[in-house]
Amino acid sequence: MATAELTLADTLARPLRDLRISVTDRCQFRCTYCMPREVFGRDFAFLPREQLLTFEELTRLARIFASLGVRKLRLTGGEPLLRRDLDKLVAMLACIDGIQDIALTTNGALLANKAAALAAAGLRRVTVSLDSLDDAVFMALNYAKFPVARVLEAVAAAAGAGLVPVKVNMVVRRGVNEQSILPMAAHFRGSGHVLRFIEYMDVGTTNGWRLDDVVPAADIIAMIGAHWPVEPVEPAYPGEVASRYRYRDGGGEIGVIASVTQPFCRGCTRARLSADGQLYTCLFAATGHDLREPLRAGARDHDIREQISSIWTGRTDRYSERRTRRTGRARQVKPKVEMSRIGG
Ligand code: SF4
Repeated sequence: MATAELTLADTLARPLRDLRISVTDRCQFRCTYCMPREVFGRDFAFLPREQLLTFEELTRLARIFASLGVRKLRLTGGEPLLRRDLDKLVAMLACIDGIQDIALTTNGALLANKAAALAAAGLRRVTVSLDSLDDAVFMALNYAKFPVARVLEAVAAAAGAGLVPVKVNMVVRRGVNEQSILPMAAHFRGSGHVLRFIEYMDVGTTNGWRLDDVVPAADIIAMIGAHWPVEPVEPAYPGEVASRYRYRDGGGEIGVIASVTQPFCRGCTRARLSADGQLYTCLFAATGHDLREPLRAGARDHDIREQISSIWTGRTDRYSERRTRRTGRARQVKPKVEMSRIGG
């Protein structure tokens, strides 16, 4: 088994290390960049319960993925905490040989009451989405009248449960919340939490993405660095998606995820499993590979393992890189901010 773990690689020699598991397709929010209400409206047909993978099915698949080299699991949605008893799933996943890290990405709405149980079950890390400290801006983005204070309570609860450092993800969209960058940086400086700025992403055909909406990560770092000098930090591991920086005065760390201007497909080791058991080899892939059907038809672990191996070894995905090349965005932004100015 160890040999197989080391040799499974896609067409660009990228190993399979990370698996994002969606446990539900539902969310209470209608963030404009993720589940815009024009698409996910009242009549949208979410998956019926029987089509969702059960905890037992998810655990079985995760075990097979672990045997192929996956070391990190990230639970996502929709909003994963809408799935009842998620801590039980975490406990089941935490028992899998080879899994070193289980993380959760959440909007924070239900986290405050669940953080302690999740941590006790074996959750190691949590990432909370928060796009502004300004209620008016935040609510206009989430379309759920959900106040900032409740998300901040969730962040505090996660830290109190030992899920530290809490990562806070802010998607930055020009003309919508770029004015929130400095207040967010000021708020989380010195908190022990890691604020990460994400370039507004094209998520396919559902969010009306335009290149002009993107605030380049280099500009964000320059803006923050002009107030509080920062310096780059080495990646914690190969393929880390966020570029890390630390405040020179010891105020902690921030990150930027520059998936538009500096795509990182070359080091991408991630696969995604949808709530109904489709395997996607890129977060932006439009079509997946059905693992639920063989799972429910009685396939043996060996057969499913072979199926996943064959999918991964044929993988060619480089969605962000190709889009960047199409738009020429990387060439446009590189000269705009000189990295030597960062932290100056
Ligand atoms: S666009 Fe796809 S291949 Fe590129 S980094 Fe993102 S998930 Fe990986």
